[in-house]
Amino acid sequence: MDIKLCFYDLLRSTNETAAAAAAEGAAEGTVIVAARQSGGRGRLTRHFVSPEGGLYFSLILRPAIDPGCAAQLTLLAGVAVAEAVNYLYETDKAQIKWPNDILWQGRKVCGILSEAALNETGIDYAVIGVGVNVALKAEDIPADLQGIAASLSVETGREVTPRCVLDEILRRFDDLYEEWLQKGAAPMLERWRRLSCTLGAQVRVLDDGRELCRGTAVAVDARGALQICDEQGSCKTFDFGEISLR
Ligand code: ATP
Repeated sequence: MDIKLCFYDLLRSTNETAAAAAAEGAAEGTVIVAARQSGGRGRLTRHFVSPEGGLYFSLILRPAIDPGCAAQLTLLAGVAVAEAVNYLYETDKAQIKWPNDILWQGRKVCGILSEAALNETGIDYAVIGVGVNVALKAEDIPADLQGIAASLSVETGREVTPRCVLDEILRRFDDLYEEWLQKGAAPMLERWRRLSCTLGAQVRVLDDGRELCRGTAVAVDARGALQICDEQGSCKTFDFGEISLR
């Protein structure tokens, strides 16, 4: 993929700018990068805190695939981010919480938000939004997120630039994406499973705060859906979407 980087000081949301550019015909590989976001978004219109020091970017893709597979791009991006962070910080502490968070010893250092637009023939474009807390100061993390969110520079004492993290993520994403297009999800999911902190964990599945089930996360299937089994051995499978894991 030909990568074309477009830098901004401040955007409301890189996903919003990328979606507008894609709708205007921007090519696959276009990357919208902002030093700050004033209205960074998570899933379900949640806010993503985006002060200076973080890495905020959205990558435009135009995969010729079944739209039902588009959600796998979230998992693919998670592998690229977790592997990039572990490589750059020489650690194995970055792990993936299904489906879209990168955690560092249990606290979130990255959120991923994938969105897709369809046309008559399939996917018109997908936008993969990534926010990484590369070098946020401790005081930049709001009080209600202390204990939930973490900054890589604070956790590691190492200064890696957002640009360096961006380049490493994109390099890995590009390789994973080519492999995914050619061979399907299996090789990517194999790497995802190795990085997961969800598999084997006790979890609660919430839909808008309402508990749908609790049990052990036992598997991620060939499509990327999560299987959860309760103590009685009864199992349910959840696609990405509206649910949250706790
Ligand atoms: P859930 O854990 O319920 O599945 P999520 O992890 O998918 O949700 P998103 O909707 O992707 O969450 O992201 C928004 C959430 O991330 C916010 O509700 C907040 O808890 C948390 N958050 C916001 N800004 C940051 C940040 N800079 N770093 C880490 N976490 C953040």
